[in-house]
Amino acid sequence: MDNKRIFLSLPKQSGFEEKYIQEALKGSWITSGGPNVDDFESKLEDYFGNTVSIAALNSGTAAIHLALILLGVKSGDEVICQSMTFSASANPIMYQGATPIFVDSEIDTWNISPEFLEIAIKDRIANGKKPKAIITVHLYGMPYKIDEIHAIANHYGIPIIEDSAEALGSSYKGKKCGMFGDFGVLSFNGNKIITTSAGGALVSYSNGLKEKAIFYATQSRDNARHYEHSEVGYNYRMSNICAGIGCGQMKILDKNIASRRAIHDFYVNIFQDINEVTVSQEPNEDYFSNFWLTTILIKDDCDKKLSREVLQLAFEKANIESRPLWKPMHLQPLFLNYPYYGKKVAEELFEKGLCLPSSSTLTDEDKNRIEEVIKTFFN
Ligand SMILES: *Cc1c(COP(=O)(O)O)cnc(C)c1O
Repeated sequence: MDNKRIFLSLPKQSGFEEKYIQEALKGSWITSGGPNVDDFESKLEDYFGNTVSIAALNSGTAAIHLALILLGVKSGDEVICQSMTFSASANPIMYQGATPIFVDSEIDTWNISPEFLEIAIKDRIANGKKPKAIITVHLYGMPYKIDEIHAIANHYGIPIIEDSAEALGSSYKGKKCGMFGDFGVLSFNGNKIITTSAGGALVSYSNGLKEKAIFYATQSRDNARHYEHSEVGYNYRMSNICAGIGCGQMKILDKNIASRRAIHDFYVNIFQDINEVTVSQEPNEDYFSNFWLTTILIKDDCDKKLSREVLQLAFEKANIESRPLWKPMHLQPLFLNYPYYGKKVAEELFEKGLCLPSSSTLTDEDKNRIEEVIKTFFN
């Protein structure tokens, strides 16, 4: 039997990417910025119903960094961040010399806990510093508790940077993720639901903010005939070649979401008779996840010998990739000395959770191999 490796999350091509890249090459638009970048931005803005302004950048991490800069976050400021996330959510806080304050997850969506968010804010204010921003994350595509979190942020007047890197196409009460925060962040890294090979975007609510983001992303050039600079600049603009891939990818975004949701259904089906495991689910019909990755938890009460490690090894033996959930930031060596508010929800998710292969390119044969491993393992 063909035993080629099944990966966690692979890109899928629409076939139109080449056309955009060839146009760029023919017109010698082998540049940072350019017609494909403008086109990609307007396609994204269309996707969001033309109610937001979007600046295409060379990574999602750059988008978070620029959001912090635009919010005026400086050295010595404090920024709250969901602990259960990829390090890219938190690293830009360090770039600014600011202090990350980590908050635990709640168990319904695995995202930032409203309870501990409020405790953190109150405590930081009591300590003499009101946090300058809150970085929230829609983990694996699942929207966080948007109503509760934004009510708290509004009450204390703290802006939200909504890390939607994993949640393009997800929505809450019919409104797309990326549009809830003061700034939204998208990623088009190779493993995300659509890709530009590497890339990201900053979502904001005014053209002025978009222009300002592009200004910083292109070395903060003042308006002059020569090179004149009064502010620190960055080289964060998306390349015109990458944007060409993005234009081609926009054609299959909705299809990819449908495939990933079908893969989630596939896993729900397999695991419905397996008592040791729960598959992550939308808490109710307000939540719509793109199910970028399907994730499972090994239940508390089951056999001690059953852990996510042994299950991961069983997949590995069959040449199938699976991965533990993100290791929470407050447990990372880099961030051990920063404040943390919460209990052990994120920690337990990390100990018991596994991400399963969820590529839009998964074939029936791949699915059979995956199902076989799971059925054999739990029998
Ligand atoms: C991928 C990712 C990012 C960063 O995106 P890049 O484009 O890789 O810089 C940020 N946050 C989360 C949660 C991510 O998964």
